[in-house]
Amino acid sequence: MKRRSLVIIVVILLALTAGAVAYYKEDTPETTNKPANQTTSKPSTPQQPAFDKKQFSLENPDSLWIIANKQRPLNPKNYAPTLVIPAMRLRSNITTDERQVRQVTADALEKLSTAAEADGITLTLESGYRSYNFQVNLYDHYVSVQGKAVADTQSARPGYSEHQTGLAADLGGVTKPACNVEDCFKDTPEGEWIVANAYKYGFIIRYPEGKQAVTGYIYEPWHLRYVGTDLAQEMRRVNVSTLEEFFGLGPAGDYN
Ligand SMILES: [Zn+2]
Repeated sequence: MKRRSLVIIVVILLALTAGAVAYYKEDTPETTNKPANQTTSKPSTPQQPAFDKKQFSLENPDSLWIIANKQRPLNPKNYAPTLVIPAMRLRSNITTDERQVRQVTADALEKLSTAAEADGITLTLESGYRSYNFQVNLYDHYVSVQGKAVADTQSARPGYSEHQTGLAADLGGVTKPACNVEDCFKDTPEGEWIVANAYKYGFIIRYPEGKQAVTGYIYEPWHLRYVGTDLAQEMRRVNVSTLEEFFGLGPAGDYN
């Protein structure tokens, strides 16, 4: 009996010691190594420079970052950029106005459509530039068909359209032509490819889903806006989908 209880006590003591050692072992790397890691890794990780939101004007219509919306008409309202025709597939009946975009947009569209083609995706330019006068006719048409209230959610008033900057492009696809410039474009292979890849080439989907109160427009999965790769990638990194929110501008849900 005596001998047995001594054995039990010894076993218990051994177990406690082992537990304490195990605890100590688990604990020490945490407390001793962490500061060491921090001091060695900190100098080797270069500080990411803060994104400069003032690199380009938000007001000058020639600027890469011009923001036109229902609260911010172009100045002058009849602004017209220098234009070129991008080397990509165009909508078959595209107008002479709409087949054009600004040079920077054309370069990016060519890279975008070439990359898409490599993935087996054919993108079409449905509508690029629209002049002030083109928009007069388009907007008047929408108003006559739908009434002013509905027209204002889908078509910009002349002088307020991003298409007039030459930096916007409505894209379509070939798998479901009926979905081109329609809500169902988002579910086509072309629409899905754009969501996954457009930012790599400097484009954002300018009117995202659920942001009508901010942008003034319903979800347009086909309407891309060229802003340059730096801004497109930064907006994705910080997970902000609209220009209005990224630059801290007020909501532009409607005209004054
Ligand atoms: Zn558009």
